[in-house]
Amino acid sequence: MFRAVRDNLYSTLFPAVCLCCGASITTPSLGNACADCWNQTNIFDECLPLCNKCGRPEPSASRLKCWQCDGHEYDRARSLGIYSFALKAAVVGLKTQPHLSPKLRQLLAEAFDKNGFADSTLIVAVPLSRQRKLERGFNQAEVIAQALGRTAGISVDAHSLVRTKHSPIHRAGMDEKARDLSVKNSFDVARPKLIDGQSVLLIDDVLTTGATASYCAKALKRCGASAVNVLTLARAV
Ligand SMILES: [Zn+2]
Ligand SMILES: [Zn+2]
Repeated sequence: MFRAVRDNLYSTLFPAVCLCCGASITTPSLGNACADCWNQTNIFDECLPLCNKCGRPEPSASRLKCWQCDGHEYDRARSLGIYSFALKAAVVGLKTQPHLSPKLRQLLAEAFDKNGFADSTLIVAVPLSRQRKLERGFNQAEVIAQALGRTAGISVDAHSLVRTKHSPIHRAGMDEKARDLSVKNSFDVARPKLIDGQSVLLIDDVLTTGATASYCAKALKRCGASAVNVLTLARAV
């Protein structure tokens, strides 16, 4: 009974058509991608070697760390899987609908457990600028953070970390240096006492170069965060 009511509610809230391939979605709990597209989505498991620090998929298991994350200020970044198929649909859908499907919530809880983030004491979402949040009406990273906070029983701080500069939306053609410059020194901590001594799990929708996460971690550590790990829905590669 409850499941039928819930599924009807999801059918109303979510488009019945897969954002990846246009097929009908017959299982509403999968969100805005169909079962076939979920099957093609690369969800990280223990078999795929990742960079110890930034979580970039590595072709060789013999190298434990890639060079692209040298100097990044966070401790460890992990994602549910690669930014393609159903995870891409989830990230795109989350920009207009502030809701996580049951499938995403389940994958998020699994990623939290298997990556050893249980010793986090505070969950913080990567903030939007005030202007962007007004345009969108909500912060998609905060939606993910609140969902994980409820599952993991960890407090979510949605106000201490702030974005002080309004940067343009990252375009697909922007190279790594341009992306880095667009977020450099964009973050500050409004209430440092709430961050001091906390082991922070920083949440975002997608990790691309890692520059945003690194500058957020820098601001949080400047205020005494003992650790800053990162968890995102998807990893662009
Ligand atoms: Zn599909
Ligand atoms: Zn790396």
